[in-house]
Amino acid sequence: MAKAAQKKVAAGKGKASGSVKAGFTLLEKSILLSKGVSEQGIGRLIKAGISGKEDFKLVGDAGTLAGLAGLKADVAERVMSWALGAIAAVPDKGGIVVQAGDVVLCVHCGAKQPKDYKSGDQCGACGKQAEPIMACFWCGATGPGRFCRQCAAEFVPTGELELGILLKREGLPKSEIPEKLRRMNQAEKDLLWARARRY
Ligand SMILES: [Zn+2]
Ligand SMILES: [Zn+2]
Repeated sequence: MAKAAQKKVAAGKGKASGSVKAGFTLLEKSILLSKGVSEQGIGRLIKAGISGKEDFKLVGDAGTLAGLAGLKADVAERVMSWALGAIAAVPDKGGIVVQAGDVVLCVHCGAKQPKDYKSGDQCGACGKQAEPIMACFWCGATGPGRFCRQCAAEFVPTGELELGILLKREGLPKSEIPEKLRRMNQAEKDLLWARARRY
């Protein structure tokens, strides 16, 4: 009995000293496996110098990751979207600041909404709906905020939803449609409306 206990202590000790730079935590490893990375793939990641979720942020994108560790493109894609979380879905231009976690700012006046805020509530500061429910021109999902939670498209103004759908039909990339609508002047939009009505 005493012997067994001693052995256990020794084993514990060995483990502790050996895991100074052991790489991924058990959880990270399980997640990577669930994303389709093989045990060998994880080995290659560690060899490339990646040993935790944070390191993927340095890698930056799926293509680089695939090259570094010889992962399949779709696997690398899944790993990066996990590692980068919402960050990957947000274009970092136009000065859009996305708040971490559950902080909701009123789209009209910018006031921070209380902790018990629910989608559809009115802003305590200006009385308007702090976060109107938007429909996505790309995938048709609805939700609050600036970006679609289904496909990460930036929402276009509700009044221009049909124009967004039309531009999608005409083959414009998802990321360019909101920007294009913002840049259009009224005459160009009128032309687009005329085309939208023909469908
Ligand atoms: Zn407000
Ligand atoms: Zn969408």
